[in-house]
Amino acid sequence: MNTIYVDNAATTKMSKTAIDAMMPFLEGTYGNPSSLHTVGQLAAEALVKARQEVAECLGADVKEIYFTSGGSESDNQALITAADLGARKGKKHIISQKTEHHAILHALKKLEKQGFEVTLLDVDGEGYVSAEDVRKAIREDTIMVTIMAANNEIGTIMPIKEIAAVCKEKGVLFHTDAVQAVGHIPLNVKDIGCDMLSLSAHKFHGPKGVGALYVRKGMFPSTLIEGGAQERSRRAGTENIAGISSMAAAMKEAVAKIPENTPKLIKMRDRLIEGLAEIPHSILNGSKTNRLPGSVNMCFEGIEGESLLLLLDAKGICASSGSACTSGSLDPSHVLLAIGRPHEVAHGSLRLTLSEENSPEEMEFIIKSVKEVVEYLRRMSPIWQDLQEGKRQYVIQ
Ligand SMILES: *Cc1c(COP(=O)(O)O)cnc(C)c1O
Repeated sequence: MNTIYVDNAATTKMSKTAIDAMMPFLEGTYGNPSSLHTVGQLAAEALVKARQEVAECLGADVKEIYFTSGGSESDNQALITAADLGARKGKKHIISQKTEHHAILHALKKLEKQGFEVTLLDVDGEGYVSAEDVRKAIREDTIMVTIMAANNEIGTIMPIKEIAAVCKEKGVLFHTDAVQAVGHIPLNVKDIGCDMLSLSAHKFHGPKGVGALYVRKGMFPSTLIEGGAQERSRRAGTENIAGISSMAAAMKEAVAKIPENTPKLIKMRDRLIEGLAEIPHSILNGSKTNRLPGSVNMCFEGIEGESLLLLLDAKGICASSGSACTSGSLDPSHVLLAIGRPHEVAHGSLRLTLSEENSPEEMEFIIKSVKEVVEYLRRMSPIWQDLQEGKRQYVIQ
């Protein structure tokens, strides 16, 4: 059976480019970049080249790029950097919003325990935070605002440029978790005007376990890992040269292919949304237009998202009910709750995140399969029975 992989917000398949870029460092050029001999210096050169490439993709300077172990580490490092600066300046307030990734939300919880005050802004029904809401929440003692560039569950693209402008005007730092955006929509740190930005290689066809944090010139990230002088003494540990080189190659390719991939993805995305909307009592989560090119998220009333996933998996379709990080827990998605979906509806969610490797034929197969499975599950559902008999009110019309 052919599998149809539509869970690219969870992780992506490595591209051939990314694998090819990795191999030399696993075979011949296995040196430690800190070593003075030739094999080490070849690795050091590769590190310089990768940093240049990553910086170029973001419109940043090489000195502004710090390699990390991925999106979660970059997010944690950004928040701790701001918290340390805040502690020095007597500022203990941080602003974020309710649909952030857990790498942000849980790191903020920890800072709260250490005495920081956190304001989590509400989002509207499509998942937006407005720059105006950010402005109103900024206080004298606010050190940083952190708002994601695009949401990993519902694909909503946030107005980060406007938010960055408000932060700049108010003298507050701005960080953005751009893990879902880098390599998917055009981004330039100078154009955005952010102070820090997180990214992760495995979300754009690079390897897992490697990412980067952009930190604007004039600022330095706090050190989370003490040890050697790697990453300008801000992040110790022998560099993951294979991963870093592979990430740089994947990023260069993903960014270069944005103009070519975007219309293709939007066409498939919108066909999926159109086809799945034919299912009665279904609703799209997030914005219809201002969403990531490959992101679809729908709720179907009267079904359980987990059952839907398992039955789709049996048909060879690899999808998700939302965030990979909440699967395995029975709580509905915090993102769907934040945009106002009631618990029982949030449980019946399906996230389909596409890559350029998907085809229009696959979209037709997915639409047909989801229709069949939803119908099948509803036939077995006592809740659906009650809805049909009028003993219960539909939440989704
Ligand atoms: C995947 C993801 C992360 C975490 O990245 P890892 O590299 O898996 O640690 C953080 N934020 C967002 C928005 C993500 O989608």
